Amino acid sequence: MATALIEWAKKQLQEIEASGLYKHERLIDSAQGVEITLKDGRKVINFCANNYLGLAAHPRVVAAARAALDRWGYGMASVRFICGTQSIHKELEQAIADFLHCEDSILYAACFDANGGVFEPFFGPEDAIISDELNHASLIDGIRLTKARRFVYKHLDLADLEAKLAEAQSARFRVVVTDGVFSMDGDYAPLDKILELTQRYDALLLVDDSHATGFVGATGRGTPEKFGIMGAPNLLLTGTLGKALGGAMGGYVAGPAPLITLLRQRSRPYLFSNSLSPVVVATTREIFSWLSETTELRDRLAANTQRFRQGMSEVGFDIRPGDHPIVPIMLYDAVLAHKMADALLQEGIYVIGFSYPVVPRGQARIRVQLSAAHTTEHIDYAIKAFAKVGQDLGIISSAASPVR
Ligand SMILES: *Cc1c(COP(=O)(O)O)cnc(C)c1O
Repeated sequence: MATALIEWAKKQLQEIEASGLYKHERLIDSAQGVEITLKDGRKVINFCANNYLGLAAHPRVVAAARAALDRWGYGMASVRFICGTQSIHKELEQAIADFLHCEDSILYAACFDANGGVFEPFFGPEDAIISDELNHASLIDGIRLTKARRFVYKHLDLADLEAKLAEAQSARFRVVVTDGVFSMDGDYAPLDKILELTQRYDALLLVDDSHATGFVGATGRGTPEKFGIMGAPNLLLTGTLGKALGGAMGGYVAGPAPLITLLRQRSRPYLFSNSLSPVVVATTREIFSWLSETTELRDRLAANTQRFRQGMSEVGFDIRPGDHPIVPIMLYDAVLAHKMADALLQEGIYVIGFSYPVVPRGQARIRVQLSAAHTTEHIDYAIKAFAKVGQDLGIISSAASPVR
C-alpha cells in the first residue's frame, strides 16, 4: 500500500511539473524586508511580501520581541484553558478589540485556524452560510466543517447576494462571508452596501480583513473603517498577524462579546492547539499601541502605492485600477508573466507571476505589493526596471519612458 501511494505521489509530482504549476521556493538568506539577499548571494528589492507596514524585521519590532523573550519566555507548552494564558494574551485580545472597535477578540495560531474555527460552533443544518465565490481557501474550509446550507454568490455581485439572502430567509441564522480585500486583484468588498443587505435580511456579516488590518482606512483599522461600518452590531471580523501586523504568525476573531466567549468554549482550533508564543503576543501588542499612536506607516504606504501606480500607468502598463498596495500588472499571458518575473529578477526586482489556476485563465499577471519600508528610490528604480523589461518583451512601446 505504502509503495503504491509513494509511486502515485511521484507521478502526481511529475504531472504538476509538466503542467508548469510546480511551486518552486526561492531561498532567502537574510531577514524579511524590502532589501533581501537570496541564497545565491544576489541582493534584490522585494515587491512580493505581505510586509505592508515594513514591520517584519523593523528595529522597533525586533527590540520589542527581544524584550518579550527575556520577560515572558519562548513558548507556552499549553492550550489556553489549561495553563496557556498569560496576562499579555488577554491584553493583546483587548488591544485588538479596541483597535477594531469590537467588544472582544480571541487569538488563534493563524488566521487559517481562526477561519477554520469560527463557523462550526455557531452554524448547523438549520442555518445558511452565504459566501463570495472568491473567498480565501481558509474560509471555504471553515465553512465545509459545518453542516449548514451553503450559498455561493458571484464575486462582489450584490444582486446575486441579495437573491441568496432571500432564498435563505427560512434558515435559523444567516451569515454573509467575504474577504475585505481580495488578494489577487486588490479589490475591496463594498462593505457599506453588503452591511445594508445583511441588516435588511437579518444576517451576520463576517469579514476576513487579512489584507487590510493595520493600513486600509484613514487610521488603518481596515475595510470596515474605509466603508464607514466600524462598530456595526452584526459584524464579526477575522484577520492575521502574519501580514501587515509584524508578519510572524497568529490570527484572531473580533466581534460581539457573547460570540467570542462562545468560541473560547467551543472553537476546536482554539481548544485543541497550542497557545500563541509570548514573543509574538507581546510584540504584536507593542505594534498595536504603535499603530494607535500614529498613522505614519500607513500614510507612507499609501504614498508609495500612489507613486508606483501612477508611474506604472505613465509608462504604459495595464494595471488594475484602485488604491490598494496590491498592484496587479496585467499581462494576460501566463508564459509572458513568468518570463517577465524572471527578467525582473535579473534587474534586481523580486516579483512573482501569477497564472491559472491561481487566477482565471487568460488573466495572468505580475502582482506587486508595496511596503511602507520601500523608499522612493526603490519605487522609481522598480518602475524603470519594469519599463526596460516591458520594452524588451514588447509589452509597452519604447516611446513611453519613465518621467522621473
Ligand atoms: C493570508 C490569509 C489568510 C491566512 O492567514 P494566516 O494567518 O497566514 O493563516 C486567511 N485569509 C486571508 C484572506 C488571507 O489573505
